[in-house]
Amino acid sequence: ALHNSLVELRGNIRVHCRIRPLLPFDTAAGQRNFSDEVAYAADDETVLVKCSRPGHAPINKTFQFERVYSASESQDTVFADVAPLLTSLLDGYNVCIMAYGQTGSGKTYTMLGPQPEENFAFAIEDESELGIIPRATQEVFRLISEKPPGSYWVEVSVVEVYNNEIFDLLAKDSCGKVFGVKRDVVTTREGKSDVPLLTHETVENASEFLHLVNKGLQLRVKHPTLVHAHSSRSHLVVTLTITTVVSGDNFGKENKSTSSSRASSPAQLEATEKMKQVKTRLQLVDLAGSECVGMSGATGAALRETSFINRSLSALADVLGAIAEQRSHVPYRNSKLTHLLQDSVGGDAKLLVMLCISPTQKYLTESMQSLGFGTRAQ
Ligand code: ADP
Ligand code: MG
Repeated sequence: ALHNSLVELRGNIRVHCRIRPLLPFDTAAGQRNFSDEVAYAADDETVLVKCSRPGHAPINKTFQFERVYSASESQDTVFADVAPLLTSLLDGYNVCIMAYGQTGSGKTYTMLGPQPEENFAFAIEDESELGIIPRATQEVFRLISEKPPGSYWVEVSVVEVYNNEIFDLLAKDSCGKVFGVKRDVVTTREGKSDVPLLTHETVENASEFLHLVNKGLQLRVKHPTLVHAHSSRSHLVVTLTITTVVSGDNFGKENKSTSSSRASSPAQLEATEKMKQVKTRLQLVDLAGSECVGMSGATGAALRETSFINRSLSALADVLGAIAEQRSHVPYRNSKLTHLLQDSVGGDAKLLVMLCISPTQKYLTESMQSLGFGTRAQ
């Protein structure tokens, strides 16, 4: 209970950590000791990093998170902890779920599921291996099916943030072909973040959603700017916008409205009842790889990419730090990524950061960096 109340006090950021299993390519690395395991789930709230290397001070450090998943924990188990956030979504809260970690740490596996080689899309067929994005969508539609028919509708958008530019992956050109069109993010008069002209497709069920997202992801490789970019060099943001029409005060958190606005007789009720549209947003994010790539040696496009990734991830760290410390100014507008996510990470929105960690010594520096990022955010 104490732990829960601390989480409440800290606001609405929760951090979970998933350590992926040792995989064949880990041991194929060739260098001595690189394939040694150094990161473990000590228990379901603790990560242990333990390593002693010749010539280095030994490391023996623990990190606490709301939940830690060991390598053997399934997609099912991970999703079971995510599902309550979707109930909040239908209760009127914006929700964001993002995967953070170095390339190869399991972000895309966690968010989408296993990907066929050289294909940014994901395998829809293997249900047990599906990640958070397809499962969350199924859950949203399941929750909606319990409501009166026609009371909710769902739209989807898919964007990629590459070199601090936003590409609309569902936009169609004049021939009807999907093509990544560049968009911008702005602040509306109400202080919300918005992407003018962004394509929002209405979807009626989870499989429609999955096919649409998969199509966007596949065609992504045809874009002249994006074609050379490895998927791990960009941030993927899939957004579900849920719209419902409510009569004044019967929509989740709207219940908190003052009693003076309530009608006291049925006749009055009719007179005062105002129908309004309420939109909530679920943003699902597969972040660019957080590896600490040295700037020296890199030139041209690679240097540009790296510096944009570093800047956007440090802008993200600044935003989460400001929220965690409950500072009055949160610097959302320092990068397109944080500006885009503003309404689903700040205010009373609920954010889940899924840290993804590789277990081996080869990625020790990156794992320590990710664990530090997660620790500061909570
Ligand atoms: P990232 O998106 O962070 O670069 P990936 O999700 O592509 O990493 O994961 C790298 C590789 O490890 C992929 O082949 C993926 O299928 C595999 N992998 C990651 N996490 C797991 C897991 N929990 N169980 C099984 N395989 C995993
Ligand atoms: Mg990936």
